[in-house]
Amino acid sequence: MPPTPPYFQLPMTPAVPKPSSASHPTPNTTTTADQRPLPQPARKPLLRLQLHDLSSPGAASFLSLLALPSCLDECIAGVLQHLYSTSTSTTPASHIPPTRSVSLVLRSMPGVAFTRSLDLDADHKEIHLSTDYVSHIPESRRRDELLGVLRHEMVHCWQWNACGSAPGGLVEGIADWVRLRSGFVPPHWKREADGDWDAGYQHTGYFLEYLEERFGEGTVRGINEGLREGKYEEEAFWGRRFGCGVKELWAEYGKSLKRREDKEGGEEKEGGQDKEGGNEKDEYTKGKGEEKEGTKKEDRATQEAEKQDESSQ
Ligand SMILES: [Zn+2]
Repeated sequence: MPPTPPYFQLPMTPAVPKPSSASHPTPNTTTTADQRPLPQPARKPLLRLQLHDLSSPGAASFLSLLALPSCLDECIAGVLQHLYSTSTSTTPASHIPPTRSVSLVLRSMPGVAFTRSLDLDADHKEIHLSTDYVSHIPESRRRDELLGVLRHEMVHCWQWNACGSAPGGLVEGIADWVRLRSGFVPPHWKREADGDWDAGYQHTGYFLEYLEERFGEGTVRGINEGLREGKYEEEAFWGRRFGCGVKELWAEYGKSLKRREDKEGGEEKEGGQDKEGGNEKDEYTKGKGEEKEGTKKEDRATQEAEKQDESSQ
């Protein structure tokens, strides 16, 4: 990937969490869908857009499908809603990173998208999105896919990562968990418990969703908040929160998936030849198959593209 020149010439600031008083969200009168006050950053970030080639089909399609800047405002609000909370009578507010600007860069490049911090000042973020990728998404789901990719990348602009020491798979898993919670689930995603818990993306995202359902609302927020300060130490990190190791939780997740599969299999058998149910399943299977190749390519490309992201965060 060709190096991207720095776009900001700003004074250096430390890329470390600010003292709690400086980054405490200010409660306001709006609320989230679950009636919690909507968390707000200490100050509204500057939003920028760079279009490298306005005539490219991908750029034109992006601009016609998504209303700027409101879709980016909504994207940020959605990310903060899932990752942060304002203070209540019993719990303190979580700490929103002091992100000062987000630049969306639409350009031709391999892969899908990646996010990086500026070298000079890590509070400034850049989301690079491939216009080649945009133009290759089937039109029927292009808008949802774009909103989903933006939601994932926007998480990287606002999440903690234990000063760069958190496992890349956990960082990516949190990004896809927010995408999942926001309702932008691509047809090829599925729960699976083979491999390692920190394989990343939706693989880890669904595991986090399992933890959220099992241990209660706010569990993933707590995980993100736990990555705010200090270095990541696996045993202490998970033991302190859940009373056991992450591998144990992963094994329990695998068992819960097996139970779910057995239950769904039983229900399908009982349902017999239900016409409507049968049609739905056929469509889903077909959709999944169609996505398979693209998915592998996309995940690989995303992972490659995001190596830069992970190393810079
Ligand atoms: Zn990512």
